[in-house]
Order: sequence, then C-alpha cells, then structure tokens
Amino acid sequence: MRKVAVGIAVACGVAAAAAAAVVVHRRMKKAGKWVKAMEMVKDFEEKCATPLSRLRQVSDAMIVEMQAGLASEGGSKLKMLISYVDSLPTGKEKGLFYALDLGGTNFRVLRLVLGGKGRGIINQQFVEVSIPTSLMTGSSSDELFDFIVAKLAKFVAQEGPDFKPSPCRQRELGFTFSFPVVQTSIASGTLLKWTKGFSINETVGRDVVEELTKAMERHGLDMRVSAMVNDAVGTLAGGRYANNDVVAAVILGTGSNAAYVERADAILKWHGPLPRSGEMVSCSSLIPISEHSIASTSFLWKNRVANGISLKVINMEWGNFKSAHLPLSEYDLELDAESLNPGDQIFEKVMSGMYLGEIVRRVLSWMAKEAAFFGDTVPPKLKVPFILGTPAISAMHQDTSPDLKVVASHIKDIFEITNTSLKIRRVIVQICSIVATRGARLSAAGILSILRNMGCDTITEGEERRTAIAMDGGLYEHYTEYRKCLVNCLNELLGKEVFESVVLELSNDGSGIGAAILAASHSKYIGCYD
Ligand code: ADP
Ligand code: MG
Repeated sequence: MRKVAVGIAVACGVAAAAAAAVVVHRRMKKAGKWVKAMEMVKDFEEKCATPLSRLRQVSDAMIVEMQAGLASEGGSKLKMLISYVDSLPTGKEKGLFYALDLGGTNFRVLRLVLGGKGRGIINQQFVEVSIPTSLMTGSSSDELFDFIVAKLAKFVAQEGPDFKPSPCRQRELGFTFSFPVVQTSIASGTLLKWTKGFSINETVGRDVVEELTKAMERHGLDMRVSAMVNDAVGTLAGGRYANNDVVAAVILGTGSNAAYVERADAILKWHGPLPRSGEMVSCSSLIPISEHSIASTSFLWKNRVANGISLKVINMEWGNFKSAHLPLSEYDLELDAESLNPGDQIFEKVMSGMYLGEIVRRVLSWMAKEAAFFGDTVPPKLKVPFILGTPAISAMHQDTSPDLKVVASHIKDIFEITNTSLKIRRVIVQICSIVATRGARLSAAGILSILRNMGCDTITEGEERRTAIAMDGGLYEHYTEYRKCLVNCLNELLGKEVFESVVLELSNDGSGIGAAILAASHSKYIGCYD
C-alpha cells in the first residue's frame, strides 16, 4: 500500500514538476518572443530615425534634384513640371464656376460663385464621392470617366435656378487632376502614369481633359473644361486668392505633392517666351538686399514684376523624390516592391495617407509572424494589404484613454483580434507614432527645400517678411499629431526667427476651389461676366 502511495506521490510530483516545467518553458518562450518583438520595434525605430542632420541631407538631395529637374526634361526623378498657370488669381474673378477634384479614392465636385473684386466667394457647395475599387484598376477609361461625370451631371441637375449660367455661356469647370501629366496647354494634359492605387492602362498616354469632355458629351452635360491643374497648383491658386503672401502649396492627402513659384530664368529647360506672370510672390533670393526691409513679399514682388522678371508655377511632383538619405526600412521596401508602381513615388510612400496605415500593418504582420505578437498563429486579417487605413492609425496614435480602448476597438474591428493586453496596445501606439513622425518630419524637410530654393530660409534683421504656404489634404487636416510634428520640425529646421516668418495655412478644399478660380481666370468669356 505504502509503495503504491509513494508511487502515486512520486508520479504526482513528477507530473506537477513536468507541468511546472511546461509553464516555465511557455513563459520563457513567451518572454523570448516578447524580447524578439521589442527588438523588431527598436530596429524599425532606428531605421526610421529622422535626426535634423539626416533631414538636412534629404533637403540637400532634394534641392539638387529640383535643380536637375528644372535644367532638363527627364533630368531628375522630380519632374518639376512647368504649369500653364501664368497668372495666379487676382481676386477680381467673378461668376459661376465648377471644379472637379480627382486625386485619390474620393473625388469632389464643387460649385463656386465668385463675387468679383473684394467680394470673394459668395456661394460654395460640394459633394464628395468615393470611387469603387473595381473602377480604379479593373475598368476601362470610359467606365471611370462615365462614373465621375454621372455624379457631376447629377450635381448640376439638382441645383436651383439661382445657379443657371447666362444663356450665352456654357458652364465652365476647373479640373484638378492629381496624377503625373504632361500638359501642352492650360486645358489639356497627357497622363504619364497612374499612381495612388489607380491602374487603367488605357488612359496612360491619353489627354485626360479629352476623356472627361467625351464623357460629358455622352451624358449630355453642357460644360467645358477651361483649366486643368493638379492639386498642388490648384491649392497654390486657391491659397493665393485668399492670401497674397502664398508662394507655395503642399498636399498631404492620399498622396503628396508640392508646387511653388519659380523665376522663369532659373528654369533652364524652358525655351519658350518668358511671359510676365502677373502679380506673384517670391522671396529674398529674388530681391536685392537693399529692398529687404519692405514689409511684405507680395509688395516686393510687385516691384520685381515691374522690373520684368517672370515667374512660373512649378508642379514638383515631389512624391517621386528618392534619395539614399531617405530613412527606409525593410517594410517600406517590401511595400514598394509589392505596389502597383514599384520603384516610383518613394517619398510619397513614406509620408502620405495612402501608405502610413499599410506600413504599420506590415510591421505588425511581421511581428505576428516572427515574434508571435498576437499569439501562436498570425491573425488572417493582418495579412490583407491596405486593410488598415491612416485614419485608424491617427485614431490609435491619439488615443488618450488610460487603457487605450480606442486601440483595442480598432484592432478588434479591423483585424478581428480580441483581448489585446495593454502592453501590446502600447507597442501598437509606438509603431503608429514612429511611422507618422518619420512622415511628418520628411514633409518638413520637403518644405525646407522649397523655402531654401526660394531664399526664404533666412531673414535679415528688422525684416518683416511673411511667406505663406497653403496646405491641403485630409492627412494634414485631420491627423493632429502629424501636423504638430511637421510644424515643430520645421521650427527646428528653420530656427525660431525664420520660422515666425513662415505661415502654414490650412487651405480647406484649396485644390478644388483653386481650380474653379483658375477656370474663372482662364474663362472663355473673360470680360463678359454677366
Ligand atoms: P485626396 O488626397 O484623395 O484628394 P483628401 O485630401 O481628402 O483626399 O485626403 C484623404 C486622405 O487623408 C485619406 O486617404 C487618408 O489617408 C487621410 N485621412 C483622412 N482622414 C484622416 C484622419 N482622420 N486621420 C489621418 N488621415 C486621414
Ligand atoms: Mg485632394
């Protein structure tokens, strides 16, 4: 009996010890996995680091590319396209105008009534429509433009009698088309390639204004396209309409781009005449030192125009910037390799709204695989590209609840991962922060490049210059931490004194508004407003 009891006791003891060993082993394994996960985060953070020295290298490289792009066609990854907008709005534009703003998964249709000199915009209305994914990649060019024009026609059909154009004139539209195009006039442009998730081969090489016009004809919509611009140029025009000190525009939305005012004689690839660009603004490099103490850059520029210097609006297409100095991780390289446009738009892929969420997803997915971050199996939803949008990143990053419940609910809703620990949620916030911080600081480096190129990065004592940059895009508008980080970084890069002379102005819907205003300034009916 005793023997049996001892045997059982021994057996129990062995079983307990074995169970304990399993628990210890599991814990050690778990601890080991956690250590591995933390190493992955640390490594990612190091690869995304953007100290000021690195940002200055990025800015130097961008300026070199800007100069190369201005010197010759195809001379740089930065296309530095010369826009056909030779005169920015004056504020005297008057009448009823429309805009179609297409630059991402959503497009906007706008109607503006401009009051003429000093009266500004007296009526403004818009609708926003999202484009079905099937029309972005799998469809024909006609199907995409038919879908867009059907919404535009509906918008026009629903407007009241107050918005009828006078009988002698057609409705006029400014078309904001934010993909790389080569323009041959203010109202025509050949698509070079699609970006931001669009891929309809048929459209490439075609005039997109013609595509739009044909779709309008198919729908019996009596409207003409008077101006085509991209979002950056549109925002510059819209920003300028509101504020005379605007010299550049930056888009941080689905994609990213910038436009600015350049002196025509610095554009070596420009062989055409040097038209006067009307009343434009530029900075100190254009102005002799003796004139510096005059208060406003716009005033300074009026003097220069009087002296015969022409300016042109340059659409940088900065999304395509690429440099060995850009801080890239293996996750970015993987995202690029698997994208619709590998090797292109690298700057855009680390800073714009389309990609920030996807970068975070890729990091989490690798952590799940390599370090069992969410348990022994990789949650299937984590493997779905682009399932995590940047609005979710911004919500999680800015979660101020003590137990990070916003993070928990997003992770549950999007990835179907329940019961995340607080420790895990904290790491997720950290990853969102790393990705957003890098993007915001690189945007600041891009802005620094424009300011440096214009000579707006220095200021002389007593000078009260103001340099305004119109900012547009859902990322900049809605992602507060991103915006704050960009602004703080620009302050660090420029130094307090110069930073105080720079105004980043949120230009809500600036790209569409600007296009409608440019439709007014390029109207066929100029001079016959009523
Ligand atoms: P588009 O660039 O397509 O013209 P928007 O300027 O409206 O359109 O920008 C839309 C992009 O802005 C979205 O793709 C998204 O990435 C980003 N975005 C929108 N809302 C938020 C948000 N709350 N937080 C962060 N990013 C956002
Ligand atoms: Mg836009």
